[in-house]
Amino acid sequence: MKKIVILGSTGSIGRNSLDIIAKFPDHFSVIGLTAGRNTALLMEQIRLFHPEIVAVSDEKTYWDLRESMGPDTAPEIRFGIDGISSTASMPGADIVISAIVGAAGLLPTLAAIRSGKTVGLANKETLVMAGDLALSEVRIHGTTLLPVDSEHSAIFQCMQGYEKNSVKKIILTASGGPFIGKTREELETASPDSALKHPNWSMGRKISIDSATLMNKGLEVIEAFHLFGLPLDKIDVLIHPQSIIHSIVEFTDGSCMAQLSQPDMRGPIAYALSYPERLDPVMKPLAWERLPGLTFQRPDTATFSCLSFAYAALQEGGTLPAVLNASNELAVSAFLDGIIGFNKIPAIIKKVMDLHKIQPADDIALILEADRWAREEAMKILGE
Ligand code: NAD
Ligand code: MG
Repeated sequence: MKKIVILGSTGSIGRNSLDIIAKFPDHFSVIGLTAGRNTALLMEQIRLFHPEIVAVSDEKTYWDLRESMGPDTAPEIRFGIDGISSTASMPGADIVISAIVGAAGLLPTLAAIRSGKTVGLANKETLVMAGDLALSEVRIHGTTLLPVDSEHSAIFQCMQGYEKNSVKKIILTASGGPFIGKTREELETASPDSALKHPNWSMGRKISIDSATLMNKGLEVIEAFHLFGLPLDKIDVLIHPQSIIHSIVEFTDGSCMAQLSQPDMRGPIAYALSYPERLDPVMKPLAWERLPGLTFQRPDTATFSCLSFAYAALQEGGTLPAVLNASNELAVSAFLDGIIGFNKIPAIIKKVMDLHKIQPADDIALILEADRWAREEAMKILGE
């Protein structure tokens, strides 16, 4: 029986993780949950999964939970970043699923890594902001870091039994999002609702917009760079609108391995939870004879420039990826709030990146300062 902590249990990845855990009660039990402010759903999860500890970032949610829990059955309730980070590293946990969205996931994920637990990583922003630091903590504490992101899980699955030096390149597939084939002019008036309508995946709001701008793929290139320790010229991106092939490894002999399944995040989540075994059943199998034609095309980085920004941020290195991430978070939330248009998202990120004086990213304080600075600069641009 593996004991699980879920960071971000009320989100899309969190809910899918609990769905798998509920299906396999002989394999998994939940001992810790953390969330933001969705009190009703969190109460329901507490009732169903009986965690020992629950931590929330929102103060009102904290008091609401405390008031509504009976003293006997209630879990211990913690608050704030310290409460979440201490839950991420709580004694007795075997696996921590890191599924908080955005930079808010960084410190709790680092806490989980430092506690030496197996970490199922969905929060790609941790590796974007602090990849070198996180990987050095992984080595120091002997942590097993397992990818939950579907592309990285696909690469990880294809690489089982192979050494890195037999890999010629990895190809991260991207659906292209809801705006594939659109021109910059057409995107000028794209609404948040249309950007949130992902053709294949059902995900949280932030990552849905990141998929529409291709920033999600950019963040995933940086994530892959750190997870697999491959140079940037060995990490390629290919648009594959059907989202059946989740990524591809091309080996030195010209042979390729790809991982295919329905676009269903329960697949990679279950693999991280049960690794190295596989659970039965997790997803509907592919109906091969009814599959649509599988097509591939190069990404249009002139229209979807966020992808190029991510490559540039990684090449320049230091605190620039953290700045890319923070300015993106701020721009995405301004777009979702109807304050800026879709094309303003890349424009803001570029401006903030151009203004940034890169610092080495070997110190968490410098990374957090770069994050704070980038948000402040992006806010100034919003006000112009
Ligand atoms: P989501 O918005 O659906 O859920 C986010 C979770 O984080 C919620 O539980 C929320 O309460 C919590 N949260 C938000 N702000 C917080 C804060 N300040 N402090 C503490 N908790 C906070 O997001 P999601 O789509 O589940 O994505 C989560 C992470 O997984 C992201 O990093 C995303 O890039 C990654 N990911 C998601 C998918 C997907 O299919 N949804 C796929 C691959 C990777
Ligand atoms: Mg992905």
